[in-house]
Amino acid sequence: MSDTRHTKVLIIGSGPAGYTAGVYASRAMLEPILVQGMEPGGQLTTTTDVENYPGYTEVQGPDLMIKMEEHARAMGTEIIGDIILDLDLSKRPFTAKGDSGTLYTADTVILATGARAKWLGLPSEEKFKGFGVSACATCDGFFYRGQEIVVVGGGNTAVEEALFLTNFASKVTLIHRRDELRAEKILINRLMKNEKIEPLWDHQLEEVVGDDMPLGVTGVRAKHVKTGEITEIPAKGVFIAIGHAPANELVKDVLDTHMGGYVVTKPDSTATSIPGVFAAGDLTDHKYRQAVTSAGMGCMAALEAEHFIAEQDD
Ligand code: FAD
Ligand code: NAP
Repeated sequence: MSDTRHTKVLIIGSGPAGYTAGVYASRAMLEPILVQGMEPGGQLTTTTDVENYPGYTEVQGPDLMIKMEEHARAMGTEIIGDIILDLDLSKRPFTAKGDSGTLYTADTVILATGARAKWLGLPSEEKFKGFGVSACATCDGFFYRGQEIVVVGGGNTAVEEALFLTNFASKVTLIHRRDELRAEKILINRLMKNEKIEPLWDHQLEEVVGDDMPLGVTGVRAKHVKTGEITEIPAKGVFIAIGHAPANELVKDVLDTHMGGYVVTKPDSTATSIPGVFAAGDLTDHKYRQAVTSAGMGCMAALEAEHFIAEQDD
């Protein structure tokens, strides 16, 4: 039987932005409901060491997110394991349909749906997804003990994944389309010192090759971006780490977006183009995309939702 739940603040997403919004909205006595989505804890649950979240010199991503969840719950956030499938922002109260059948109605909505991994879009990548091709080293690295692995990308994620995968792999080839990494210097230094990692500069992944019976990867073909020369690399696992795109599916047709789909917010604010709807974290941040900045925006969104509700009550 479908159920209807009303809340003053509906928080959609359970990454650092969502949980921080939960802490602040709870402390403002707004009794928020937070819907966790398909990835409770968000992107940090797909990584290992986090070394740049204040208060921790080192913490495991999944542990940090469990602590954030506990914090939000302890302050009074109602945390629900559901996925929002449809959101109607055309009138207040706003309505959101959950996969569970629950209909959520809300005076304000905080969108904190974050970002998801990008793929190259190659047919061979699609064919071997889940059978040797992955976007999550922490999830799948263990399957490649003693094997050769390829990582594609040149940002923090690619470098961290390459380093992490050396715990399992006999060799990791990092394929990057330029000859310069965009990752932080500290990570680049670690990468360059690691004897198991071999960078392949100025190359694009051309094709993942493998067997059909059973389905599995045997290697990749990489193309030099200037000469077109093809290099074949044996590998059992291929990790695509070329960045993330904002998870804007619920709002892309009703809210203003820019820079590849990031939700536009007003300057120095999390307010979107619809009064009462706020956006925080990687969904709106094309620039910094960090746990701490997402948490900061979650705080802002909850404080702005509180002001919005107070103004409506006046
Ligand atoms: P996310 O963490 O992306 O969470 C989004 C949430 O929205 C998820 O809970 C998801 O389930 C939910 N959701 C999505 N759609 C729906 C829906 N329809 N209904 C309900 N819920 C929904 N940053 C750092 O500061 N330090 C690091 O060391 C670091 N390491 C990283 C390592 C990796 C491998 C990756 C991928 C990222 C890393 N980052 C790091 C970046 C950091 O994870 C993000 O900046 C941060 O998680 C963004 O938080 P967020 O709250 O905006 O969203
Ligand atoms: P990113 O910084 O956007 O880097 C993506 C990388 O993939 C870039 O090197 C890019 O190449 C490459 N790329 C993009 N599209 C490609 C394509 N079609 N083919 C080949 N290569 C392609 O993404 P990210 O590394 O996932 O990081 C996302 C955010 O999370 C960043 O803000 C990052 O700082 C943060 N993060 C932080 C940490 C940390 O603090 N320790 C860890 C992980 C992630 P170019 O360089 O040529 O553009």
